[in-house]
Amino acid sequence: MIFLRPVLHYACHFLVPALGAKLFFPKKWKMVYYQFLATMLIDLDHLLANPIFDPNRCSIGFHPLHTLWAAGLYGVLLFFPKTRFIGIGCLWHLMTDSLDCWLRVFE
Ligand SMILES: [Zn+2]
Repeated sequence: MIFLRPVLHYACHFLVPALGAKLFFPKKWKMVYYQFLATMLIDLDHLLANPIFDPNRCSIGFHPLHTLWAAGLYGVLLFFPKTRFIGIGCLWHLMTDSLDCWLRVFE
């Protein structure tokens, strides 16, 4: 179980978005996937924390780009075609990080 959480976490960050892009947007999946990958940049807010990385800290609600306010902003991005995939990717990122927090209970 100790390795399952990180494997699931990184699969949700990298593999699931690739599969989703391929499944739902087969003709432009690479462009969609690159935008999903770009949403990993919201993790730059970890640089504001001390320590930068703490495996026992839940990023949701702690880092500024991982808050409910940020999620609201990502939700607004869904309404504009040019930012829609960024919004989907950011919300998926928050769901992935949330799952990681919830799974910590079982360790
Ligand atoms: Zn994150």
